Amino acid sequence: MSGKKGNRPVVTLECTECRERNYTTEKNKRNDPTRIELKKFCRRCRTHRMHRETK
Ligand SMILES: [Zn+2]
Repeated sequence: MSGKKGNRPVVTLECTECRERNYTTEKNKRNDPTRIELKKFCRRCRTHRMHRETK
């Protein structure tokens, strides 16, 4: 194992409707090898939208 500290995969979540980037979260790449999607509240849409990990 090569141990670099602070190597946390932080991803940004954007609203799939308006593309507003509302959230960041830490991703477990072993649990989530693909892009993650979460239903969260979007400030711009003022309702819950699916938020997807940005590239
Ligand atoms: Zn939105």
